[in-house]
Amino acid sequence: MKVAVGDWFARERVDEVIWRLWEPFVDPFARCNIWFVSGRDRALLVDTGLGVASLHEAARDLFEQPTLALATHYHFDHTGSLHEFTDRLAHRAGISYLATPGAIGGALQRDAFQPDFDLDAYEVKSCAPTRVLDDGDVIDLGDRAFEVMHLPGHSPDSIGLYDAESRTLFSGDAVYDGPLLDGSSDSDVDAYVATMERLRALPVEVVHGGHEPSFGRERLVELCDAYIAGVSSR
Ligand SMILES: [Zn+2]
Ligand SMILES: [Zn+2]
Repeated sequence: MKVAVGDWFARERVDEVIWRLWEPFVDPFARCNIWFVSGRDRALLVDTGLGVASLHEAARDLFEQPTLALATHYHFDHTGSLHEFTDRLAHRAGISYLATPGAIGGALQRDAFQPDFDLDAYEVKSCAPTRVLDDGDVIDLGDRAFEVMHLPGHSPDSIGLYDAESRTLFSGDAVYDGPLLDGSSDSDVDAYVATMERLRALPVEVVHGGHEPSFGRERLVELCDAYIAGVSSR
């Protein structure tokens, strides 16, 4: 793999335990937030980017701790490097999608690559989860734990991860502070409305989404209400 321009991943420390990583050369619409949460016994990696460059190599220092790599849903911009990790977690409804390689089409900027890189042929590698998740499952890092919330709508397998103690939610593409997408062939608007009703009742303090900057509960309620209102006026 040849990547022409600088380091493929950028990263910033959010607090004592959370890092955000992202791919600056990827089109904004396909540039997901990659979250890393360190714990006492193990770490959690929430989403893995496009897989064009090795995330496992690029953030090797973070992954010295045993790391559970999790997909918030199967979409290619979130699952590219999932195959690089030994422990792979995904919702039950995503298994069949993850088994199918995902083409990435126009999501990448041509000038980020050396000329001999065949961008059009690149596709996200398929892989099987090693732990299949359902709503209510708990992901225990030793000193903190996340409850799995099944949040279908954007995709059938969308999940969020909620730590009730720190009131932190990783929401994937179920909700983020930007235009929410429910127009894919496997999107489900009715399920999305139910997901929004569930999310707006959560006593959350901070939401780390699959795209865009993080936000608090007030903004979460606004985003949920705006989506629900938008659907009822269609
Ligand atoms: Zn998505
Ligand atoms: Zn996404």
